[in-house]
Amino acid sequence: MAKPGTQARRKRSAPELPFGGAWSYEPSLESTDHVVLAERYGLFLDGAFVRPSTGRYFATSDPATGRQLALVAEAGPKDVAAAVVAAQRAFRSWRRLPGTERARYLFRIARLLLERAREFAVLETLDNGKPIAETRDIDVPLAAQHFFYHAGWADKLDLVFPGAVPEPLGVVGQIIPWNFPLLMAAWKIAPALAAGNTVVLKPAETSPLTALRLCEVLQQAGLPPGVVNVVTGAGATGAALVRAEGLAKVAFTGSTEVGKEIQRQVAGRGIDLTLELGGKAAHLVFEDAALDQAVEGVVRGIFMNQGHVCCAGSRLLVQESVHDAFVAKLQRRMARIRVGNPLDKNTDMGAIHSAQQLARIEALCAAGRAEGATCFQPPCRLPERGFWWPPTLFTGVAQSHRIAREEIFGPVLTVSTFRTPDEAIEKANNTSYGLSAGVWTDKGARILWVAERLQAGVVWNNTYNRFDPAAPFGGYKESGFGREGGRQGLRAYLRLPDAPTPA
Ligand code: NAP
Ligand code: MG
Repeated sequence: MAKPGTQARRKRSAPELPFGGAWSYEPSLESTDHVVLAERYGLFLDGAFVRPSTGRYFATSDPATGRQLALVAEAGPKDVAAAVVAAQRAFRSWRRLPGTERARYLFRIARLLLERAREFAVLETLDNGKPIAETRDIDVPLAAQHFFYHAGWADKLDLVFPGAVPEPLGVVGQIIPWNFPLLMAAWKIAPALAAGNTVVLKPAETSPLTALRLCEVLQQAGLPPGVVNVVTGAGATGAALVRAEGLAKVAFTGSTEVGKEIQRQVAGRGIDLTLELGGKAAHLVFEDAALDQAVEGVVRGIFMNQGHVCCAGSRLLVQESVHDAFVAKLQRRMARIRVGNPLDKNTDMGAIHSAQQLARIEALCAAGRAEGATCFQPPCRLPERGFWWPPTLFTGVAQSHRIAREEIFGPVLTVSTFRTPDEAIEKANNTSYGLSAGVWTDKGARILWVAERLQAGVVWNNTYNRFDPAAPFGGYKESGFGREGGRQGLRAYLRLPDAPTPA
């Protein structure tokens, strides 16, 4: 019997895309699944795929093999302006649609995503390099959950914010990074649409394919043209979107550096802005913690998605009395991490996303060695083609070392020690970032004491890197402002003249 989802997908004919013949990409080795890719992808404007006014296309490729997957349209300022106009036109009727109707579209999108889950998982793994076990179990189901969750709010906005008449903002320009391409698109689009806004989304240059495939799902769901528009391109396309006339809000997820530039561009224009930026999370292990479980949590915290995670637990702080025992356990566990073919369901760590990201990881690891920290990497045979880096651990790390201060965004963990809870807090907060943190201890009272004092938007207790659409996510300090998820995330897409901000 065919697996659920596979059958439905095989019955569908190849996606109707405007350019060239479709070709079937057969993923190598373990995977037997097929993903049908077009040779070229147009921009998704006003409900249809169209050619870019620039006439230019760029290649997106598989980081695990270097193989080109498809050509993707490069949107110029004219295309971005056309997308905003389409979104403005769609906004007039979308905002007036009863919430129950908007909810229906969002439910349909969520269901279609789950029906096509295998296809999305394989495509995300191909375009991004992350292991199929993650795209299958985390990225795709969570993306669908975001649509389900926000569908549930769409007709209850007045109940969420009592005493106010919630109004959508208008057209929202949304810019997302390459590390969770589909999930970030869902995080942005679902709350915006539930609240009655329309969207122009700019995916990252190096991982645009699942956002474009999501546009096929939007067509399949019958979403009215112009409600969501996708303009592909590089940083210049993102910058054109930020500058475009007619936006009510910009929502950005990406690096702190680009976030600051966007903040300057938006200043004084009377439009809303939320920024989800970088992080350098502290992961605290107290001597009373269940150490074997903590090892698993620390491994998930830093090696998930090759460490390309804004909230990765990249600074491990271990209580001095258990440091040696904990590091020994961690090193033994790291030796069992399977690095390799992302399409193999047994793979734990896939490919580094790009040559540029690999160069950054190499440079920072070299700086760690030069500054005197001790580097541990388990023996590990890396594939010859593509971009790879083994799981890496630095011990003897001082607070002043670059590897302890800068976001590496790779599978690299630094370890330092603390003696007292006060020292743990001081070291954990000694960073310009404040996105997330983790704490492992057996004492409930200590969890609360620590969580209250950590300057981080999310604090995980005795677990790490768990996500739920109902839980607000966002940063302090240079990790940005605004929240995504939960009522607070919905709030960020509404104008509520009289309402108190939800606690
Ligand atoms: P990035 O360079 O800031 O890029 C993010 C997005 O912005 C991409 O779509 C990028 O386009 C676009 N962009 C680049 N320059 C721009 C400009 N001047 N104006 C407007 N848009 C511009 O970040 P990245 O390297 O892709 O992603 C990694 C960073 O994202 C890390 O710092 C990570 O911590 C952060 N991140 C944060 C969160 C969070 O929720 N806080 C989540 C995930 C990632 P191109 O890629 O096409 O150049
Ligand atoms: Mg790619």
